[in-house]
Amino acid sequence: SRFFTITDYPNGLPERELFKLETQPLPDLNPGEVRIRNHWLSVDPYMRGRMSGQHTYVAPFRLDQPMEGAAIGEVIASNDERLKEGDIVSHMGGWRDIAQISADGVYPLPSTDVPEQAYLGVLGMPGMTAWTGLNRIAECRPGDNVLVSAASGAVGSLVVQLAKAKGCHVVGIAGAAHKLAWLESLGVEPVSYRDRTAKELSDAIQLASPEGIDVYYENVGGICLEAALSQLNEGARIAVCGMIDSYNAEKPAPGPSNLSQILVRKVRMQGFIVSDHWDHYGEFLKEVSPQVAAGDINYKETVKEGLESTPDAFLELFKGGNTGKMLVSLND
Ligand code: NDP
Repeated sequence: SRFFTITDYPNGLPERELFKLETQPLPDLNPGEVRIRNHWLSVDPYMRGRMSGQHTYVAPFRLDQPMEGAAIGEVIASNDERLKEGDIVSHMGGWRDIAQISADGVYPLPSTDVPEQAYLGVLGMPGMTAWTGLNRIAECRPGDNVLVSAASGAVGSLVVQLAKAKGCHVVGIAGAAHKLAWLESLGVEPVSYRDRTAKELSDAIQLASPEGIDVYYENVGGICLEAALSQLNEGARIAVCGMIDSYNAEKPAPGPSNLSQILVRKVRMQGFIVSDHWDHYGEFLKEVSPQVAAGDINYKETVKEGLESTPDAFLELFKGGNTGKMLVSLND
């Protein structure tokens, strides 16, 4: 098996040299274990938190031990009665080509008419996060004016489409021109944050949503939050999903200077972690999976080839290198 480890807990944006590719022969399969040949690996922004050496809501990666992450693969040997050779499964033994792990936490994919890697993106954890934050945290209603940051990413691109489908007016913030064009094709008012101050971004949001913002789906923090705060309507709701702007910060970032708008406009701002809502995953799949299969929900993937490219795929998340879900393909 070939797998990645990290050799240290980094400060700031990790260097490529932090990630080491190791090779080890696999031991015999123990009772209750399965061996899986991975087809697809997920890299996600939350993994940066696992590289901090501190326990947040997930334990840190252990130094010099195989890293973990969501993956889709095929069972090639099984010592568990629930799983058999040939099953296509999702599991957390990512960052490696062949995973040998306990069958607990290995789940056969629901068979549907979508490509298997959709279960790492639009129908997996990022999709579930989008649905949870929009519906259960922000309590988005038809007619709301919705603002989404990192709107062309894995989570954001589903948030904007679920909100559009509810009959909301939706503004999406993103970086590159091709991302803004995709958002526009989805009926979203695109707004670039590049080379803008918080004030300039706020003005651009106002132009795109003259009636203010009722729901802000927060993926970024930084100037996006500051700009959004100035455009909120009374009684607005903010679902704090992520703050990727600060994940590599080497010192505490200055707070938004206009945080008092939360008070003045009687806003509710609430953080959430998707794993606490996983009992609703079935409900999410029932609603969203037919729409993905029918092509009514549009999703994009940015795919890097080969296990060696996994760290680069991860690091590009912080430079906007992905549109939609960032994936690594091991299919060659
Ligand atoms: P994305 O697919 O959105 O990838 C990250 C994107 O963020 C990049 O493509 C880039 O797009 C944007 N970005 C990166 N750095 C910055 C920056 N400094 N300022 C502005 N934009 C930036 O990732 P995910 O969809 O997987 O995750 C989105 C957010 O949701 C993250 O914050 C993540 O941590 C959070 N999350 C939270 C969960 C929870 O349970 N609360 C679960 C899953 C995800 P661009 O080119 O537009 O800049």
